[in-house]
Amino acid sequence: MDSLKNNRKIKHLPIVIIGAGFGGIALAVKLQKAGIRDFTLLERASEVGGTWRDNTYPGCACDVASTLYSLSFAPNPHWSRTHGIQPEIFEYMKKVARDFDLYSYVRFNTELQKAHWDEQNDIWHITTNQGEFTCDVLTTATGPFGEPVIPKLKGADTFKGHSFHTFHWDHGYALTGKKVAIIGTGATSIQLIPEIQPQVETLKVFQRTPSHVLPRIDYATSAAKRSAFRFVPLFQRGIRSMWYAAYEGLVGLPQFVDTRFIALFERTAKYHLHRQIKDQPLRDKLTPDYRFGCKRPVFSSKYFPALQKSNVDLITEGIREIREHSIIDTQGNEHNVDVIIYATGFRVPHEIAEKLIGHDNQSLASLLENKPKSYLGTSFSGFPNLFMMLGPFSLAGNQSAIFTLEMQADYITKSIKTMRKKAFKNVEVKENVMNTFSREIEERAEKTTWVNGGCKSYYQHANGGNAGLWPNWSFMYRWKTRKFEENKFHVKHNATAEDV
Ligand code: NAP
Repeated sequence: MDSLKNNRKIKHLPIVIIGAGFGGIALAVKLQKAGIRDFTLLERASEVGGTWRDNTYPGCACDVASTLYSLSFAPNPHWSRTHGIQPEIFEYMKKVARDFDLYSYVRFNTELQKAHWDEQNDIWHITTNQGEFTCDVLTTATGPFGEPVIPKLKGADTFKGHSFHTFHWDHGYALTGKKVAIIGTGATSIQLIPEIQPQVETLKVFQRTPSHVLPRIDYATSAAKRSAFRFVPLFQRGIRSMWYAAYEGLVGLPQFVDTRFIALFERTAKYHLHRQIKDQPLRDKLTPDYRFGCKRPVFSSKYFPALQKSNVDLITEGIREIREHSIIDTQGNEHNVDVIIYATGFRVPHEIAEKLIGHDNQSLASLLENKPKSYLGTSFSGFPNLFMMLGPFSLAGNQSAIFTLEMQADYITKSIKTMRKKAFKNVEVKENVMNTFSREIEERAEKTTWVNGGCKSYYQHANGGNAGLWPNWSFMYRWKTRKFEENKFHVKHNATAEDV
C-alpha cells in the first residue's frame, strides 16, 4: 500500500541527498545534466560548502592543487595560489551552487536524525529536525570529517579558561597575548601553528605522534597565468591533468607497485626536517617511528620554523590531567594556559552510519564498525536504494577527493537512470558481491603502508585492516564504476517503466 508515500502529512521527495558539500554539489549537477530534477538536498547548516564552510581556523587551506581540487565541469581561472585557501574554496563552492541553480534544491537547516528503510512500502522514511519525509532513493554525501572529537582528558571539565575544537573556531576570542595550548599535530594543527604563533604570548604544542612533514610547494598564481586559464581553458585543463598524473604516479607507485618507493618520501621528509631544524633533541622529538603514509602526511614549510620561535614549546610527554588554569604532563610538569585548542581530529567513520537503518532494523554502523564492508564504497547489502559518497573503500588515498566524488556522482546518476528506465522499484547489492569486493580490497590493502606502516591511524579499522581507502589507481575506480551492473543487485520492479 502506498499510504505512507501518499500521506499528505509526510512529504515525499523522490531523491534525497544528505549534505551540500562537494559530494552533494557534484551529484546534484550530474543529476541535472542527466535530466533528473526531482532531487532535494538536505543540509544541516544554512549554507552550502561542507567541510570548507565549517573549518575556518587560521591557515586552513588545501593540500591538493586547486586546478585538480575543483569540479571538472566548473573550472575556476581565478585561484590566487597553487593550493586553494579555505575562504577561496568556500566562495568557489557557493559560486558553483549559484551557477547551477542549486540553492533552489536545498532545504537548509535540516539535519538528518534517522532514516529507516520501510520494507512494506519500499521507501526510505526520513526523520529530520524539520519534520519527516519519505524518499525512493537516499544518498549520503556527508564526508568523513563532520564530527569533531575532543578526547576525554582527566579534569578537562574543571578548566576555567577557554577551550574549543578547531572545527568550531571561536572567532570572537582573541588569542593575542594569551597562553595557548594546542593538542594534536595532524594536518590541521600544522597549518594553524605558524598562523597563531606570532600573536600569542606562549604556545604549548602537545604532540602524541610526530607527522611526516613534506615541504609545501605553493605559489601565487600570476595575473598572466590567470588570464591564460580564463581565455585558454585547455591550458588549465592541461595543468589539471599534470597534477592528476603526478598524484597518481608519484604517490600511487609506492602504494600499489612497490612499497620500497616510500623511502624516497621518507628521505625527502627527513631532509626537510634536517634542513629546517638544527637542534638534535628537537629533531628527535619530531622524527616519526613509522613508515611514510601510515598516517596522513602533512605539507608545510612554515611549521618547523614556527616551532623554534622563543614563545613555543613542543611537549611530547602525554597529558596526565587538566586543572583550572593549567595542563599537567605525565612528567608532572605544570603548563599554565589561558586557552586549550583541540586539534584532535574527527570521528571516522562518521556518525551518519548510525542513523541509517536498513532491513531487519540493522544500522549501517554495525556493518561499518570493526571491519567495514561495502560495494564500490557506495552500496551496502541490507540497505536498498541507498548510495553513500566516500563510503568505505572508495577514497583513493593518493588522489583529489573531488575526483572520487565526481566518479561516484556519475555512478549514482547512472544507477538512478537505470532504475527509472528499467522501472526498478528498488535495488540492493547482493551480499556475496559486497563480501567479495570487500575481501579483495582488504587483501590488496595489506601491501600498503596504510595498514602495515607501523602506526595507528584512522586509515585502519579496529582489527588493524584497511578502514576505507581505495588501494588501487584511481582510474581503476573509474573503470569499476563506469556502469551500473544490475546483475550485482537484487532488483524489484515497478509496474511500469518511467522515462528519464
Ligand atoms: P587528525 O589528522 O586526526 O590529527 C589529530 C591529532 O590529534 C593527531 O596528532 C593525534 O595524535 C592528536 N590527538 C588525538 N587525540 C589525542 C589525545 N587524546 N591526546 C593527544 N593528542 C591527541 O586530525 P586533523 O589534523 O584535524 O585532520 C583530519 C583530516 O582532515 C586530515 O587527515 C585531512 O584528511 C583533513 N585535513 C586536510 C587538510 C588539508 O588539505 N590541508 C587540512 C586539515 C585537515 P595521534 O597521531 O597520536 O593520534
